Amino acid sequence: MDRDSPQRSRRTPRKPDSAPSSATGPLRDTIATLQQQAAQLQRVLDISRVLTSTLDIDKLLEVILEASAELTDTEAASIMLLDERSGDLIFAASTGSRREDLAGIRVPIDNSIAGTILKQRAPLVVGDVTKDPRHFGAAAQKSGFVTRSILGVPMTIKDKPVGVLEALNKKGDAAFGAEDIQVLTTFANQAAVAIENARLVAALRKAYQRLDELDRRKSDFIAIASHELRTPLHLILGYASMLQEDASGAAKAQLDGVLKGAQQLRALIEDMINLQHIDAGSAVLDASRFTAAELIESVVEACKDMAEAKDQTIHVDLPDPALAMVADWEKTQLALNNLVTNAIKFTPPQGRLEISGKLVGDEVQVCVADNGIGIPAREIERIFERFYQVEPHIARKYGGLGLGLAISKSMVELHGGRIWCESAEGRGSRFTFALPAGGPKQPKRGTTPLRM
Ligand code: ADP
Repeated sequence: MDRDSPQRSRRTPRKPDSAPSSATGPLRDTIATLQQQAAQLQRVLDISRVLTSTLDIDKLLEVILEASAELTDTEAASIMLLDERSGDLIFAASTGSRREDLAGIRVPIDNSIAGTILKQRAPLVVGDVTKDPRHFGAAAQKSGFVTRSILGVPMTIKDKPVGVLEALNKKGDAAFGAEDIQVLTTFANQAAVAIENARLVAALRKAYQRLDELDRRKSDFIAIASHELRTPLHLILGYASMLQEDASGAAKAQLDGVLKGAQQLRALIEDMINLQHIDAGSAVLDASRFTAAELIESVVEACKDMAEAKDQTIHVDLPDPALAMVADWEKTQLALNNLVTNAIKFTPPQGRLEISGKLVGDEVQVCVADNGIGIPAREIERIFERFYQVEPHIARKYGGLGLGLAISKSMVELHGGRIWCESAEGRGSRFTFALPAGGPKQPKRGTTPLRM
Protein backbone atom coordinates (compact mmCIF):
# COMPACT_ATOMS: atom_id res chain seq x y z
CA MET A 1 0.00 0.00 0.00
CA ASP A 2 1.46 3.38 -0.90
CA ARG A 3 1.82 6.52 1.13
CA ASP A 4 -1.61 7.74 0.09
CA SER A 5 -3.28 4.65 1.46
CA PRO A 6 -6.30 5.10 3.67
CA GLN A 7 -4.56 3.05 6.36
CA ARG A 8 -1.76 5.52 6.68
CA SER A 9 -4.12 8.45 6.58
CA ARG A 10 -6.25 6.89 9.27
CA ARG A 11 -3.32 6.88 11.61
CA THR A 12 -2.87 10.59 11.02
CA PRO A 13 -6.41 11.85 10.62
CA ARG A 14 -6.90 15.30 9.23
CA LYS A 15 -8.45 17.25 12.04
CA PRO A 16 -10.93 19.98 11.14
CA ASP A 17 -9.74 23.40 12.18
CA SER A 18 -11.79 24.53 15.13
CA ALA A 19 -14.45 27.20 14.57
CA PRO A 20 -13.21 30.75 15.20
CA SER A 21 -13.63 31.69 18.86
CA SER A 22 -15.28 34.99 17.88
CA ALA A 23 -18.28 33.11 16.44
CA THR A 24 -21.01 32.27 18.89
CA GLY A 25 -24.02 30.00 19.27
CA PRO A 26 -25.64 28.52 16.16
CA LEU A 27 -23.13 30.17 13.81
CA ARG A 28 -20.28 28.46 15.58
CA ASP A 29 -22.06 25.10 15.33
CA THR A 30 -22.72 25.62 11.62
CA ILE A 31 -19.10 26.50 10.97
CA ALA A 32 -17.96 23.46 12.92
CA THR A 33 -20.31 21.19 10.97
CA LEU A 34 -19.16 22.66 7.66
CA GLN A 35 -15.54 22.22 8.63
CA GLN A 36 -16.19 18.62 9.56
CA GLN A 37 -17.94 17.99 6.26
CA ALA A 38 -15.11 19.66 4.36
CA ALA A 39 -12.56 17.48 6.17
CA GLN A 40 -14.57 14.37 5.34
CA LEU A 41 -14.90 15.33 1.70
CA GLN A 42 -11.16 15.91 1.62
CA ARG A 43 -10.76 12.42 3.02
CA VAL A 44 -13.04 11.02 0.29
CA LEU A 45 -10.85 12.77 -2.23
CA ASP A 46 -7.69 11.30 -0.70
CA ILE A 47 -9.20 7.84 -0.84
CA SER A 48 -10.44 8.36 -4.42
CA ARG A 49 -6.89 9.06 -5.44
CA VAL A 50 -5.88 5.67 -4.06
CA LEU A 51 -8.87 4.06 -5.77
CA THR A 52 -7.99 5.40 -9.19
CA SER A 53 -4.39 4.27 -8.87
CA THR A 54 -5.22 0.70 -7.82
CA LEU A 55 -5.94 -1.78 -10.60
CA ASP A 56 -5.59 -4.99 -8.62
CA ILE A 57 -9.19 -5.96 -7.92
CA ASP A 58 -8.55 -7.69 -4.56
CA LYS A 59 -6.53 -4.78 -3.25
CA LEU A 60 -9.15 -2.38 -4.52
CA LEU A 61 -11.99 -4.16 -2.73
CA GLU A 62 -9.91 -4.15 0.44
CA VAL A 63 -9.35 -0.40 0.16
CA ILE A 64 -13.07 0.17 -0.43
CA LEU A 65 -14.04 -1.88 2.61
CA GLU A 66 -11.59 -0.06 4.86
CA ALA A 67 -12.52 3.35 3.54
CA SER A 68 -16.28 2.71 3.85
CA ALA A 69 -15.87 1.71 7.50
CA GLU A 70 -13.61 4.66 8.17
CA LEU A 71 -15.80 7.26 6.50
CA THR A 72 -18.94 6.12 8.31
CA ASP A 73 -17.25 5.23 11.58
CA THR A 74 -18.48 1.65 11.42
CA GLU A 75 -16.99 -1.72 12.32
CA ALA A 76 -17.14 -3.35 8.92
CA ALA A 77 -18.38 -3.15 5.34
CA SER A 78 -19.60 -5.37 2.51
CA ILE A 79 -19.60 -5.03 -1.25
CA MET A 80 -22.09 -6.82 -3.46
CA LEU A 81 -21.87 -6.57 -7.21
CA LEU A 82 -24.58 -7.14 -9.76
CA ASP A 83 -24.09 -10.16 -11.98
CA GLU A 84 -25.47 -8.91 -15.26
CA ARG A 85 -26.10 -12.36 -16.66
CA SER A 86 -28.17 -13.74 -13.78
CA GLY A 87 -29.39 -10.40 -12.48
CA ASP A 88 -28.32 -11.44 -8.94
CA LEU A 89 -26.22 -9.57 -6.43
CA ILE A 90 -23.06 -11.48 -5.57
CA PHE A 91 -20.83 -10.90 -2.55
CA ALA A 92 -17.52 -9.51 -3.74
CA ALA A 93 -15.92 -8.64 -0.39
CA SER A 94 -16.79 -8.32 3.26
CA THR A 95 -14.63 -7.25 6.20
CA GLY A 96 -13.13 -10.28 7.92
CA SER A 97 -14.09 -12.75 5.19
CA ARG A 98 -11.73 -14.29 2.72
CA ARG A 99 -12.68 -13.79 -0.91
CA GLU A 100 -12.79 -17.54 -1.57
CA ASP A 101 -15.28 -18.00 1.26
CA LEU A 102 -17.59 -15.45 -0.27
CA ALA A 103 -17.32 -16.74 -3.81
CA GLY A 104 -20.71 -17.40 -5.24
CA ILE A 105 -22.80 -16.21 -2.28
CA ARG A 106 -25.81 -14.72 -3.97
CA VAL A 107 -28.13 -12.24 -2.34
CA PRO A 108 -31.69 -12.50 -3.56
CA ILE A 109 -32.88 -9.27 -5.12
CA ASP A 110 -36.39 -9.74 -3.78
CA ASN A 111 -36.93 -9.33 -0.08
CA SER A 112 -33.34 -8.53 0.84
CA ILE A 113 -31.93 -5.25 2.13
CA ALA A 114 -29.31 -5.03 -0.61
CA GLY A 115 -31.89 -6.01 -3.25
CA THR A 116 -34.19 -3.23 -2.08
CA ILE A 117 -31.36 -0.68 -2.28
CA LEU A 118 -30.49 -1.83 -5.79
CA LYS A 119 -34.07 -1.81 -7.03
CA GLN A 120 -34.97 1.53 -5.46
CA ARG A 121 -31.55 3.00 -6.26
CA ALA A 122 -31.66 4.80 -2.94
CA PRO A 123 -29.78 4.56 0.35
CA LEU A 124 -31.34 2.55 3.17
CA VAL A 125 -30.67 2.65 6.90
CA VAL A 126 -31.59 -0.32 9.06
CA GLY A 127 -31.11 0.68 12.69
CA ASP A 128 -31.79 -2.76 14.12
CA VAL A 129 -31.13 -5.64 11.80
CA THR A 130 -32.76 -8.19 14.12
CA LYS A 131 -36.08 -6.48 13.48
CA ASP A 132 -35.77 -6.51 9.71
CA PRO A 133 -36.76 -9.81 8.10
CA ARG A 134 -35.00 -8.78 4.87
CA HIS A 135 -31.58 -9.22 6.45
CA PHE A 136 -29.56 -11.86 4.62
CA GLY A 137 -26.91 -13.27 6.89
CA ALA A 138 -25.10 -15.82 4.71
CA ALA A 139 -21.85 -13.86 4.34
CA ALA A 140 -21.72 -12.77 7.98
CA GLN A 141 -22.24 -16.36 9.05
CA LYS A 142 -19.06 -17.36 7.25
CA SER A 143 -16.97 -14.93 9.28
CA GLY A 144 -19.00 -15.12 12.47
CA PHE A 145 -19.58 -11.37 12.30
CA VAL A 146 -22.79 -10.19 13.95
CA THR A 147 -24.53 -7.37 12.12
CA ARG A 148 -26.55 -4.97 14.24
CA SER A 149 -27.11 -1.98 11.98
CA ILE A 150 -26.67 -1.30 8.26
CA LEU A 151 -26.29 1.72 6.04
CA GLY A 152 -26.52 0.56 2.44
CA VAL A 153 -26.13 2.66 -0.69
CA PRO A 154 -26.36 1.78 -4.38
CA MET A 155 -23.22 1.76 -6.50
CA THR A 156 -23.97 3.27 -9.88
CA ILE A 157 -22.06 4.13 -13.02
CA LYS A 158 -23.76 6.68 -15.25
CA ASP A 159 -27.10 5.99 -13.54
CA LYS A 160 -26.73 2.26 -14.10
CA PRO A 161 -26.81 0.24 -10.87
CA VAL A 162 -23.80 -2.07 -10.60
CA GLY A 163 -23.86 -3.08 -6.94
CA VAL A 164 -24.48 -2.20 -3.33
CA LEU A 165 -22.09 -0.97 -0.66
CA GLU A 166 -23.00 -1.52 2.97
CA ALA A 167 -21.43 -0.09 6.13
CA LEU A 168 -22.14 -2.29 9.14
CA ASN A 169 -22.55 -1.45 12.84
CA LYS A 170 -22.06 2.23 13.59
CA LYS A 171 -19.50 2.36 16.38
CA GLY A 172 -20.93 2.90 19.85
CA ASP A 173 -24.24 1.75 18.41
CA ALA A 174 -24.97 5.34 17.39
CA ALA A 175 -27.55 6.06 14.71
CA PHE A 176 -26.48 6.69 11.09
CA GLY A 177 -26.79 10.37 10.25
CA ALA A 178 -27.40 12.34 7.05
CA GLU A 179 -23.64 12.94 6.62
CA ASP A 180 -22.98 9.18 6.73
CA ILE A 181 -25.51 8.67 3.98
CA GLN A 182 -24.08 11.48 1.90
CA VAL A 183 -20.45 10.49 2.25
CA LEU A 184 -21.07 6.79 1.57
CA THR A 185 -23.26 7.60 -1.45
CA THR A 186 -20.54 9.79 -2.97
CA PHE A 187 -17.88 7.24 -2.19
CA ALA A 188 -19.90 4.29 -3.55
CA ASN A 189 -20.10 5.83 -7.00
CA GLN A 190 -16.36 6.48 -7.11
CA ALA A 191 -15.73 2.96 -5.89
CA ALA A 192 -18.02 1.61 -8.62
CA VAL A 193 -16.01 3.36 -11.33
CA ALA A 194 -12.73 2.13 -9.84
CA ILE A 195 -14.02 -1.47 -9.72
CA GLU A 196 -15.26 -1.23 -13.30
CA ASN A 197 -11.87 0.09 -14.47
CA ALA A 198 -10.01 -2.66 -12.63
CA ARG A 199 -12.32 -5.26 -14.13
CA LEU A 200 -11.78 -3.88 -17.63
CA VAL A 201 -8.01 -3.89 -17.15
CA ALA A 202 -8.16 -7.46 -15.82
CA ALA A 203 -10.27 -8.53 -18.82
CA LEU A 204 -7.81 -6.83 -21.17
CA ARG A 205 -4.84 -8.55 -19.53
CA LYS A 206 -6.59 -11.88 -19.85
CA ALA A 207 -7.31 -11.22 -23.50
CA TYR A 208 -3.64 -10.35 -24.07
CA GLN A 209 -2.52 -13.54 -22.35
CA ARG A 210 -4.89 -15.51 -24.55
CA LEU A 211 -3.57 -13.73 -27.63
CA ASP A 212 0.00 -14.51 -26.61
CA GLU A 213 -0.90 -18.13 -26.14
CA LEU A 214 -2.62 -18.28 -29.54
CA ASP A 215 0.33 -16.53 -31.12
CA ARG A 216 2.70 -19.08 -29.62
CA ARG A 217 0.56 -21.96 -30.83
CA LYS A 218 0.35 -20.48 -34.31
CA SER A 219 4.16 -20.17 -34.38
CA ASP A 220 4.56 -23.76 -33.23
CA PHE A 221 2.11 -24.94 -35.85
CA ILE A 222 3.86 -23.06 -38.65
CA ALA A 223 7.26 -24.33 -37.51
CA ILE A 224 6.10 -27.95 -37.48
CA ALA A 225 4.04 -27.72 -40.66
CA SER A 226 6.81 -26.12 -42.70
CA HIS A 227 9.35 -28.75 -41.68
CA GLU A 228 6.93 -31.63 -42.21
CA LEU A 229 6.02 -30.35 -45.67
CA ARG A 230 9.57 -29.83 -46.80
CA THR A 231 10.66 -33.48 -47.00
CA PRO A 232 7.79 -34.85 -49.12
CA LEU A 233 7.99 -31.77 -51.32
CA HIS A 234 11.64 -32.45 -52.05
CA LEU A 235 10.66 -35.93 -53.20
CA ILE A 236 7.89 -34.60 -55.44
CA LEU A 237 10.21 -32.03 -56.99
CA GLY A 238 12.98 -34.57 -57.51
CA TYR A 239 10.82 -37.22 -59.18
CA ALA A 240 8.76 -34.71 -61.17
CA SER A 241 11.85 -33.13 -62.71
CA MET A 242 13.31 -36.55 -63.55
CA LEU A 243 10.06 -37.60 -65.20
CA GLN A 244 9.73 -34.27 -66.99
CA GLU A 245 13.16 -34.63 -68.57
CA ASP A 246 12.16 -37.96 -70.14
CA ALA A 247 8.57 -37.02 -70.94
CA SER A 248 7.22 -35.63 -74.19
CA GLY A 249 4.00 -34.18 -75.58
CA ALA A 250 1.01 -33.79 -73.26
CA ALA A 251 2.79 -35.56 -70.37
CA LYS A 252 5.62 -33.02 -70.48
CA ALA A 253 3.18 -30.12 -70.29
CA GLN A 254 1.35 -31.76 -67.38
CA LEU A 255 4.61 -32.37 -65.55
CA ASP A 256 5.53 -28.74 -66.16
CA GLY A 257 2.39 -27.81 -64.25
CA VAL A 258 3.26 -30.20 -61.42
CA LEU A 259 6.76 -28.74 -61.19
CA LYS A 260 5.54 -25.14 -61.20
CA GLY A 261 3.03 -25.86 -58.46
CA ALA A 262 5.64 -27.66 -56.36
CA GLN A 263 8.11 -24.82 -56.83
CA GLN A 264 5.51 -22.31 -55.65
CA LEU A 265 4.88 -24.46 -52.62
CA ARG A 266 8.61 -24.64 -51.95
CA ALA A 267 8.88 -20.84 -52.11
CA LEU A 268 6.11 -20.47 -49.52
CA ILE A 269 7.68 -23.03 -47.21
CA GLU A 270 11.05 -21.35 -47.54
CA ASP A 271 9.45 -18.04 -46.58
CA MET A 272 8.17 -19.62 -43.40
CA ILE A 273 11.48 -21.29 -42.60
CA ASN A 274 13.35 -18.02 -43.22
CA LEU A 275 11.23 -16.24 -40.66
CA GLN A 276 11.77 -19.01 -38.17
CA HIS A 277 15.51 -18.59 -38.50
CA ILE A 278 15.17 -14.90 -37.82
CA ASP A 279 13.00 -15.54 -34.78
CA ALA A 280 15.36 -18.16 -33.45
CA GLY A 281 18.24 -15.72 -33.86
CA SER A 282 19.97 -18.26 -36.05
CA ALA A 283 20.01 -16.03 -39.13
CA VAL A 284 23.64 -15.05 -39.58
CA LEU A 285 25.00 -12.63 -42.13
CA ASP A 286 27.59 -13.79 -44.58
CA ALA A 287 28.72 -10.46 -46.00
CA SER A 288 30.56 -10.15 -49.29
CA ARG A 289 31.25 -7.39 -51.83
CA PHE A 290 29.17 -7.18 -55.00
CA THR A 291 27.74 -4.46 -57.19
CA ALA A 292 24.17 -3.19 -57.13
CA ALA A 293 24.10 -4.05 -60.84
CA GLU A 294 24.88 -7.73 -60.15
CA LEU A 295 22.16 -7.85 -57.51
CA ILE A 296 19.50 -6.23 -59.68
CA GLU A 297 20.41 -8.27 -62.75
CA SER A 298 20.19 -11.55 -60.87
CA VAL A 299 16.73 -10.70 -59.53
CA VAL A 300 15.49 -9.44 -62.90
CA GLU A 301 16.69 -12.70 -64.45
CA ALA A 302 14.83 -14.73 -61.83
CA CYS A 303 11.60 -12.75 -62.27
CA LYS A 304 11.76 -12.31 -66.05
CA ASP A 305 9.34 -15.12 -66.92
CA MET A 306 6.79 -13.93 -64.41
CA ALA A 307 6.84 -10.39 -65.85
CA GLU A 308 6.78 -11.66 -69.43
CA ALA A 309 3.73 -13.76 -68.68
CA LYS A 310 1.93 -10.49 -67.87
CA ASP A 311 3.52 -8.62 -70.74
CA GLN A 312 5.16 -6.20 -68.32
CA THR A 313 8.39 -4.32 -68.87
CA ILE A 314 11.18 -3.99 -66.32
CA HIS A 315 13.51 -0.98 -66.58
CA VAL A 316 16.74 -0.75 -64.67
CA ASP A 317 18.18 2.62 -63.73
CA LEU A 318 21.75 2.50 -62.45
CA PRO A 319 23.54 5.84 -62.77
CA ASP A 320 26.76 4.30 -61.43
CA PRO A 321 27.14 0.75 -62.83
CA ALA A 322 30.11 0.16 -60.51
CA LEU A 323 28.13 1.03 -57.34
CA ALA A 324 29.33 -1.54 -54.80
CA MET A 325 27.61 -2.99 -51.77
CA VAL A 326 28.88 -5.03 -48.84
CA ALA A 327 26.07 -7.30 -47.70
CA ASP A 328 24.82 -10.87 -47.46
CA TRP A 329 24.20 -11.75 -51.11
CA GLU A 330 21.41 -14.29 -50.57
CA LYS A 331 19.53 -12.25 -48.01
CA THR A 332 19.72 -9.06 -50.05
CA GLN A 333 18.64 -10.97 -53.12
CA LEU A 334 15.69 -12.38 -51.20
CA ALA A 335 14.70 -8.89 -49.99
CA LEU A 336 14.78 -7.48 -53.51
CA ASN A 337 13.17 -10.55 -55.05
CA ASN A 338 10.14 -10.18 -52.79
CA LEU A 339 9.73 -6.53 -53.79
CA VAL A 340 10.00 -7.30 -57.48
CA THR A 341 7.61 -10.28 -57.42
CA ASN A 342 5.10 -8.12 -55.52
CA ALA A 343 5.46 -5.33 -58.08
CA ILE A 344 4.73 -7.83 -60.85
CA LYS A 345 1.87 -9.41 -58.94
CA PHE A 346 0.13 -6.15 -58.03
CA THR A 347 0.58 -4.48 -61.43
CA PRO A 348 -1.86 -5.22 -64.26
CA PRO A 349 -0.71 -6.67 -67.58
CA GLN A 350 1.37 -4.33 -69.74
CA GLY A 351 2.43 -2.47 -66.63
CA ARG A 352 5.85 -0.96 -66.09
CA LEU A 353 8.38 -1.64 -63.34
CA GLU A 354 11.51 0.32 -62.62
CA ILE A 355 14.37 -0.90 -60.45
CA SER A 356 17.05 1.57 -59.48
CA GLY A 357 20.11 1.69 -57.28
CA LYS A 358 22.06 4.68 -56.07
CA LEU A 359 24.29 5.93 -53.28
CA VAL A 360 22.53 8.39 -50.96
CA GLY A 361 24.76 9.67 -48.18
CA ASP A 362 26.29 6.61 -46.58
CA GLU A 363 23.56 4.25 -47.78
CA VAL A 364 22.99 2.25 -50.91
CA GLN A 365 19.33 2.65 -51.80
CA VAL A 366 17.61 0.11 -53.99
CA CYS A 367 14.18 1.06 -55.22
CA VAL A 368 11.38 -0.92 -56.93
CA ALA A 369 8.63 1.20 -58.47
CA ASP A 370 5.54 0.03 -60.33
CA ASN A 371 2.45 1.59 -61.86
CA GLY A 372 0.14 -1.02 -60.38
CA ILE A 373 -2.85 -0.98 -58.06
CA GLY A 374 -1.09 0.98 -55.30
CA ILE A 375 -1.81 0.80 -51.57
CA PRO A 376 -4.36 2.87 -49.64
CA ALA A 377 -2.58 5.37 -47.35
CA ARG A 378 -4.15 3.88 -44.21
CA GLU A 379 -2.68 0.43 -45.00
CA ILE A 380 0.92 1.44 -45.68
CA GLU A 381 1.92 1.28 -42.00
CA ARG A 382 0.78 -2.33 -41.76
CA ILE A 383 1.91 -4.04 -44.94
CA PHE A 384 5.29 -4.97 -43.44
CA GLU A 385 3.56 -6.96 -40.69
CA ARG A 386 3.53 -10.72 -41.00
CA PHE A 387 0.48 -12.16 -42.74
CA TYR A 388 -0.93 -8.72 -43.39
CA GLN A 389 -2.55 -8.31 -46.78
CA VAL A 390 -4.53 -5.35 -48.05
CA GLU A 391 -6.82 -7.59 -50.04
CA PRO A 392 -9.52 -9.12 -47.83
CA HIS A 393 -9.09 -12.89 -47.52
CA ILE A 394 -12.61 -13.65 -48.72
CA ALA A 395 -12.08 -11.83 -52.02
CA ARG A 396 -8.61 -13.18 -52.78
CA LYS A 397 -7.41 -12.39 -56.24
CA TYR A 398 -3.64 -12.26 -55.80
CA GLY A 399 -2.73 -15.19 -53.56
CA GLY A 400 0.32 -15.31 -51.29
CA LEU A 401 0.79 -15.69 -47.56
CA GLY A 402 1.46 -12.08 -46.63
CA LEU A 403 5.02 -12.87 -45.57
CA GLY A 404 7.11 -11.39 -48.39
CA LEU A 405 7.44 -7.85 -47.07
CA ALA A 406 7.98 -9.04 -43.50
CA ILE A 407 10.86 -11.15 -44.77
CA SER A 408 12.32 -8.29 -46.83
CA LYS A 409 12.11 -6.04 -43.76
CA SER A 410 13.82 -8.62 -41.55
CA MET A 411 16.56 -9.21 -44.10
CA VAL A 412 17.22 -5.50 -44.46
CA GLU A 413 17.13 -4.86 -40.71
CA LEU A 414 19.55 -7.72 -40.12
CA HIS A 415 22.04 -5.53 -41.99
CA GLY A 416 21.17 -2.50 -39.87
CA GLY A 417 19.28 -1.05 -42.84
CA ARG A 418 15.75 0.24 -43.34
CA ILE A 419 12.86 -0.26 -45.73
CA TRP A 420 9.83 1.87 -46.58
CA CYS A 421 7.04 2.32 -49.05
CA GLU A 422 5.44 5.26 -50.81
CA SER A 423 2.27 4.63 -52.74
CA ALA A 424 -0.80 6.20 -54.29
CA GLU A 425 -3.86 4.03 -54.57
CA GLY A 426 -4.62 3.23 -58.19
CA ARG A 427 -1.39 4.80 -59.43
CA GLY A 428 1.44 2.60 -58.18
CA SER A 429 3.93 1.93 -55.42
CA ARG A 430 7.58 2.57 -54.72
CA PHE A 431 9.43 0.36 -52.25
CA THR A 432 12.93 1.35 -51.17
CA PHE A 433 15.46 -0.37 -48.99
CA ALA A 434 18.64 1.24 -47.79
CA LEU A 435 21.70 -0.66 -46.59
CA PRO A 436 24.77 0.85 -44.94
CA ALA A 437 27.24 1.36 -47.79
CA GLY A 438 30.18 0.29 -45.67
CA GLY A 439 28.66 -3.10 -44.80
CA PRO A 440 26.27 -4.45 -42.16
CA LYS A 441 25.85 -2.51 -38.97
CA GLN A 442 24.54 -3.91 -35.71
CA PRO A 443 20.77 -4.14 -36.34
CA LYS A 444 18.68 -1.90 -34.14
CA ARG A 445 17.19 -3.82 -31.21
CA GLY A 446 13.55 -4.73 -31.52
CA THR A 447 13.21 -3.68 -35.12
CA THR A 448 12.40 -7.19 -36.23
CA PRO A 449 9.30 -8.85 -34.80
CA LEU A 450 10.44 -11.66 -32.57
CA ARG A 451 7.97 -14.33 -33.37
CA MET A 452 6.21 -15.64 -36.42
P1 ADP B 1 1.86 -11.21 -50.17
O1 ADP B 1 2.42 -10.61 -51.41
O2 ADP B 1 2.14 -12.67 -50.03
O3 ADP B 1 0.41 -10.91 -49.98
P2 ADP B 1 3.60 -9.34 -48.81
O4 ADP B 1 4.04 -9.31 -47.39
O5 ADP B 1 4.65 -9.43 -49.83
O6 ADP B 1 2.60 -10.56 -48.92
O7 ADP B 1 2.72 -8.06 -49.08
C1 ADP B 1 1.72 -7.69 -48.17
C2 ADP B 1 0.64 -6.90 -48.86
O8 ADP B 1 1.13 -5.61 -49.25
C3 ADP B 1 0.14 -7.53 -50.14
O9 ADP B 1 -0.84 -8.52 -49.89
C4 ADP B 1 -0.43 -6.32 -50.87
O10 ADP B 1 -1.72 -6.05 -50.33
C5 ADP B 1 0.51 -5.20 -50.45
N1 ADP B 1 1.55 -4.96 -51.47
C6 ADP B 1 2.83 -5.36 -51.42
N2 ADP B 1 3.52 -4.93 -52.50
C7 ADP B 1 2.64 -4.24 -53.25
C8 ADP B 1 2.73 -3.52 -54.50
N3 ADP B 1 3.87 -3.44 -55.19
N4 ADP B 1 1.61 -2.92 -54.95
C9 ADP B 1 0.46 -2.98 -54.27
N5 ADP B 1 0.31 -3.63 -53.09
C10 ADP B 1 1.38 -4.25 -52.59
